[in-house]
Amino acid sequence: MPDKKRLTTANGAPVDNNQNSLTSGKRGPVLMQDFHLLEKLAHFDRERIPERVVHAKGAGAYGYFEVTNDVTKYTKAAFLSKVGKKTDLFVRFSTVGGEKGSADTERDPRGFAVKLYTEDGNYDIVGNNTPVFFIRDPLKFPDFIHTQKRNPQTNTKDANMFWDFLSLVPESVHQVTILFSDRGTPDGYRHMNGYGSHTFMWVNAAGKGHWIKYHFKTDQGNKTMTRQQAGKLAGEDPDYATRDLFNAIQDGHYPSWTLKVQVMPFEDAEKYRFDPFDVTKVWPHADYPLIEVGKMVLNRNPENYVAEVEQAAFSPGNIVPGIDFSPDKMLQGRIFSYGDTHRHRLGGNYQQIPVNYAKASPPQNNQRDGFMAVLGNGGSAANYEPNSVNGPKQTDDPNSYPLPLQGVVARTEYGHENSDFEQAGALFSKVMTDEERDHLVGNIVAHLGNAKRELQERQVAIFAKAHPDYGRRVAEGLGIAVPKSTMAD
Ligand code: NDP
Repeated sequence: MPDKKRLTTANGAPVDNNQNSLTSGKRGPVLMQDFHLLEKLAHFDRERIPERVVHAKGAGAYGYFEVTNDVTKYTKAAFLSKVGKKTDLFVRFSTVGGEKGSADTERDPRGFAVKLYTEDGNYDIVGNNTPVFFIRDPLKFPDFIHTQKRNPQTNTKDANMFWDFLSLVPESVHQVTILFSDRGTPDGYRHMNGYGSHTFMWVNAAGKGHWIKYHFKTDQGNKTMTRQQAGKLAGEDPDYATRDLFNAIQDGHYPSWTLKVQVMPFEDAEKYRFDPFDVTKVWPHADYPLIEVGKMVLNRNPENYVAEVEQAAFSPGNIVPGIDFSPDKMLQGRIFSYGDTHRHRLGGNYQQIPVNYAKASPPQNNQRDGFMAVLGNGGSAANYEPNSVNGPKQTDDPNSYPLPLQGVVARTEYGHENSDFEQAGALFSKVMTDEERDHLVGNIVAHLGNAKRELQERQVAIFAKAHPDYGRRVAEGLGIAVPKSTMAD
């Protein structure tokens, strides 16, 4: 075996001089035949892959999930089959709107993506640190994200775009209220909860389905920053959360989260007082209490950032037997969009990259060829089905639940039932402390104050619908007229 310390070209040949290009005479010019130089430059020129359109800045770690409570009456998922069972996983946390070099402490939802390497295939729970989302139809998603990014002319963040869209999409007020509370600036990735956000279905061994929602509760405790602290850190230590996670794991302070679920009987979805699949709403705990499932522990840092974190590819479409989708329209859109963006970013064989590879259930199918088919490409095995040469066969156990459908095919909205404002109002008036309300109002005023007066007025009217005091206090902070509906207070 050659010396491991030997510097080589990409074709493995020893390099005898890595400091001087091959030239004609001392002063040059450089010769085309300097293969080592050409290869080194050419590879360098190709070092960047497209950054994610959203969630570009992130940090990741490996760990495990351990079942602590028997939930087999709800799901037959193999990784949840026994108390004490452990499953390897990889997690990526991220901000959403900023570019790959943006500050970790920006006000933004945080991505919370978990890949479980189960024996029935990889199962991805691809959520955020917020239980809800700004919009509930994927047709709105590209427009929404444009408003959170840069102005097409000035290439700067633009409060007018930001509030123009949100004030025309009132169902966003719940997520806006969470975003502008101090939970919009969590103290690193260890001190925040994660949520699957969407509704999913769990299916048990008898074939019975239940609707569920995931909650990862931080065992480190929720800890947030004020906008002043977050703003200061954005300048002084823009990689704050990335460093905090890496150092904690390196020092043996393994962060953990307790996974809980809310379970809704299948039949309730028809008659619940609002549409339980609408991702702008939570299910109140009083109606659907949290049930413990297990613990997620992160205990190993990646060896290489680009290989393992940048190339990590999560998709809500990656489910396993015992788990199924819900009709949530945003979920349905994401099932397509995540795989699609990874094919663009990493190529059609992105599931062969080690961090994405289903190591506990190596894929056996007839997908072949394409760029970077690096895992043997199925070797000499049959690449078609049915076949009579003993190729892999489908199982008899149905993976999907027979979901009855109803209604006509049309482009229709979710029913409103006047509930778009109720939960933002409850968060403001019942959950937040006085100090949290002060911070919320201050955070909004600091941002909305940069938008045009007409947008301020439109947005304040939405806050007022959530709660009269909410609208009044933001209006007063902005120095604009208090909406009429709140005058009586
Ligand atoms: P509960 O009083 O049972 O729960 C309140 C929840 O709010 C807790 O889960 C708490 O998380 C969370 N919370 C506290 N401050 C904030 C904040 N600034 N941003 C986001 N979440 C926060 O209430 P209900 O279930 O009746 O819901 C009342 C309101 O609480 C909802 O309208 C919603 O806005 C919010 N909420 C509800 C959740 C749910 O799934 N029911 C989940 C998250 C928020 P923690 O315990 O970790 O501190």
